[in-house]
Amino acid sequence: MSPAARVAGLGTTIFTEMSALAVRTGAINLGQGFPDTDGPASVIEAAVAALRSGENQYAPLPGVPALREAVSEHQRDWYGLEPEDVLITFGATEGIAAALLGLCDPGDEVVVLEPYYDSYAACISFAGAVRRPVTLRPPGFEVTVDALEGAVTSRARVLLLNSPHNPTGRVLGRAELEMIAAACVEHDLICVTDEVYEHLVYDGEHIPIATLPGMAARTLTISSVGKSFSFTGWKIGWCSGPADLVAATRMVKQYLTFAGGTPLQHAAAAALRLPRSDIVALADDLRAKRDQLCSGLRAAGLQPLVPGGTYFVNADVGVDAVDFCRGLPERCGVVAIPTGVFYDDKEAASSLVRFAFCKRPEVIAEAAERLASLRT
Ligand code: PMP
Ligand code: GLN
Repeated sequence: MSPAARVAGLGTTIFTEMSALAVRTGAINLGQGFPDTDGPASVIEAAVAALRSGENQYAPLPGVPALREAVSEHQRDWYGLEPEDVLITFGATEGIAAALLGLCDPGDEVVVLEPYYDSYAACISFAGAVRRPVTLRPPGFEVTVDALEGAVTSRARVLLLNSPHNPTGRVLGRAELEMIAAACVEHDLICVTDEVYEHLVYDGEHIPIATLPGMAARTLTISSVGKSFSFTGWKIGWCSGPADLVAATRMVKQYLTFAGGTPLQHAAAAALRLPRSDIVALADDLRAKRDQLCSGLRAAGLQPLVPGGTYFVNADVGVDAVDFCRGLPERCGVVAIPTGVFYDDKEAASSLVRFAFCKRPEVIAEAAERLASLRT
């Protein structure tokens, strides 16, 4: 039996392919971005307490009130935002899917930074919408006015933003965000912004686009507990912003999954309410890992494009990155991701490879040593 046309071209995600390769070859997995240690113990205890205190049935459709309140408080305390409404989702992934399905009609265009996180392309196509990439080019990955203007047409409906940005590690600066905000206002676009790496910033600062003039009323902000708090397996995410954008997203979410993860929603509330110093400490730990892997890459003769945020670093390997990554486990026992798979423009970064540094220092040291063997 053949699948529906909407899934025919999708294939297996690069993360699944590369993680399977790591398992098959016993290589160190610097491909799929997940930490090899747990997040804060107090947050795990909050999950255990919720499991033991009867928080095991459906959550309300919008999410557990304690978490919705914690999201509102977080947006206010960290950024001065006052979202009108909050919706809890199965990870940021469900939020992105539900937002695109709830906000785009067939034929609408979605302006998206490329390279883009792979679920964006799939969900844009599920909505019958069309993606219009704004190409970020190495080494700087800046948003240029020409690329932005070239991507926004009269059919544009949504601008799907991601900063800190996966897979480049770029933290967009204020001037770039102002340029994007100006385009949203001028063309009356809805901004859906994926800020799952909001607390993983090492240089500069994370500026939520909703804080820029004219943007709060047209921006749906999405984040999750996975990256910032090292619980990628929990899949608890949230959308916040104006009531109409949250309502459109909720309308779809109610028929995708309705609700779930009740005890973990309680624990996510505890994560968001951690003292600020604990949240900053998580980023400090990852900054040291970034620096460690960047040194290791340099020692291996690969020039890292040092990221300001996320837990990914890119390096130009000088040859076709897909071939390089397929051969890497056999050559030296490391798995990484070819960055070009996240571009429509296949020439833009064909020799770029993404390495994840959210691993224990001894694992990064071992990976660096293995990569150094490429030089000989
Ligand atoms: N957006 C980006 C940019 C990501 O890298 C990821 C991977 N964590 C997600 C969304 C998905 O987030 P979640 O695991 O919360 O679904
Ligand atoms: N966000 C993770 C990454 O970029 C992957 C998540 C997934 O496997 N879909 O590596």
